[in-house]
Amino acid sequence: MRSVIFAANWKMHHGPDAGRRFIERFRELVEPAAGRELWFFPPAAALVAVTQALAGRDDARAGAQNVYWEPKGAFTGEMSVAIAREAGARGALVGHSERRHVFGETDEDTRRKVAALLEGGLTPMLCVGETLNEREADRTGAVVLRQLDAALDGLAADALDRVLIAYEPVWAIGTGRNATPADAAAVHAVIRARLAALGRGLEGRVLYGGSVSLKNVAALLAEPELDGVLVGGASLEADAWAQLISAAPRG
Ligand code: PEP
Repeated sequence: MRSVIFAANWKMHHGPDAGRRFIERFRELVEPAAGRELWFFPPAAALVAVTQALAGRDDARAGAQNVYWEPKGAFTGEMSVAIAREAGARGALVGHSERRHVFGETDEDTRRKVAALLEGGLTPMLCVGETLNEREADRTGAVVLRQLDAALDGLAADALDRVLIAYEPVWAIGTGRNATPADAAAVHAVIRARLAALGRGLEGRVLYGGSVSLKNVAALLAEPELDGVLVGGASLEADAWAQLISAAPRG
């Protein structure tokens, strides 16, 4: 049985102090559980504080929201994989729709970031997903596979084993409109089949993200195709995040 992942993407919320207080409160509410893995993606400046606050919790880890692929140099505003690792990150989000659509990151940028993370020993959580226009034009599968193929291009099967995928339809992120469990499962099956074709094996883990909330998490995770959830808005408050995790049927 694959473990279930609950990943919190705090986006541009919570500095070091708020991040530490969040984790301290969360630890009072949620005990480690077999078969459940927790990820927290705070802003870069809060990585050290969150990592320190998570000390001793083997079920939980911090990750960066973004990294740059170059190892060092004149790249003002960027964070290398090595710096993220030193700050405590065990992985990083890559290809999040806000990086693609607000900051103009390309499929090639995403590929370089995935490769750099793997090279540096961190776990990429690769986000893929279609826009509303693409969905309405029946291009969901094609778009998701294009993003997946581009990001994973050239990876050996053993490197592929270390990549987590998050299916995040762009139209569902921060909109209050989630994919139905069946719709998400159908896209997950397409992703899983491609991972298997690339040599990943069928145990590749695929999360769903996009307006996951206390109201829909049970129905979403009742769908066995979903190996977890990547959550933005509903992960910003420790009590609510603990409640959402407790409401899930697995983990
Ligand atoms: C996200 O930022 O990855 C996300 C899924 O956001 P939200 O849960 O707010 O839709």
